[in-house]
Amino acid sequence: MRPNLKNLLFGLAAVVDPSRRNLLFGRRPQTPTAPRPPWATARFLDRCTRCGDCATACPTQIIKVGEAGFPMVDFAQAECTFCGDCARACTPLALDQSISPPWKIYAEINASCLADRGVECRICGEVCDEQAIRFQLAVGKVAHPLVNAEQCTGCGACVSACPSQSIRLLELIS
Ligand code: SF4
Ligand code: SF4
Ligand code: SF4
Repeated sequence: MRPNLKNLLFGLAAVVDPSRRNLLFGRRPQTPTAPRPPWATARFLDRCTRCGDCATACPTQIIKVGEAGFPMVDFAQAECTFCGDCARACTPLALDQSISPPWKIYAEINASCLADRGVECRICGEVCDEQAIRFQLAVGKVAHPLVNAEQCTGCGACVSACPSQSIRLLELIS
């Protein structure tokens, strides 16, 4: 099979820097973020009336009241299914489902990961429907999770599943 360039870079970066869990393919990470709801427009702050309708509509209840009353997403208990109910509830069009992708966030696994302490754990990979987490094998060590930021949708499913709270979401700057 002909090697795919992204997969090649993915493997290469892991070999060069095994501690680097997230492979960005030229995109820069921003600081940790409490994301706005998906499909937030560039005019989100102008348009959002802080009505809370998106939070009420969200079936997984991940939309909470954030700073200054604006909605934010909290993945501590659940994930985004990208059902679109929040955006459909947003009559001021602060959220707009025509935006693609819905947001630019991806998962990052930090050093408190159980694998760093020699404990075998693959829960994050098992819950990731996008198969954005793969496990790097190393002789004499437990396998380490690696996030492929290109495949990660930022759904957050791995965040609440992680038994050591080692995963957070970062925003990407194009
Ligand atoms: S429904 Fe729209 S206007 Fe209302 S809080 Fe949510 S994003 Fe803001
Ligand atoms: S897309 Fe659905 S699950 Fe995701 S935040 Fe909106 S309402 Fe909640
Ligand atoms: S945020 Fe979702 S898509 Fe990204 S690694 Fe976690 S489970 Fe997979």
